[in-house]
Amino acid sequence: MDCIFCKIISGEIPCSKVHEDDLTLVFKDINPIAPVHLLIIPKEHIASAAELGDEHRVLLGHMFAVISDLAKKLDLSSGFRIVTNCGSHAGQTVDHLHFHLLAGRELAWPPG
Ligand code: 5GP
Ligand code: ZN
Repeated sequence: MDCIFCKIISGEIPCSKVHEDDLTLVFKDINPIAPVHLLIIPKEHIASAAELGDEHRVLLGHMFAVISDLAKKLDLSSGFRIVTNCGSHAGQTVDHLHFHLLAGRELAWPPG
């Protein structure tokens, strides 16, 4: 499968890794839009949030526990944002589920 994030998981494409466990990988976004811009991805290839079902409840709970841990470790007590773009109107460019973790500056709302 020609998926850039699957290639990052396999090690074929390098990344700046922040966290890894059996279910998830967290790495720095190559084109950061905030002082902290991480991508949290499942090791399982899931195309987007539109493909999620009840069978992913353990995975999703785990991913958000990882996010919560990272927020503590990185001292994001001033706040952070989790975003997942789903489909072309939302600006999804990589078809492998990912949560953006954005922090380190005030983030505009609504995002536009
Ligand atoms: P999307 O636009 O799908 O919501 O987010 C995809 C994100 O992946 C973008 O923020 C983009 O900068 C990031 N990205 C794309 N290719 C790579 C890569 O090869 N390495 C890393 N670290 N980030 C990437
Ligand atoms: Zn993939």
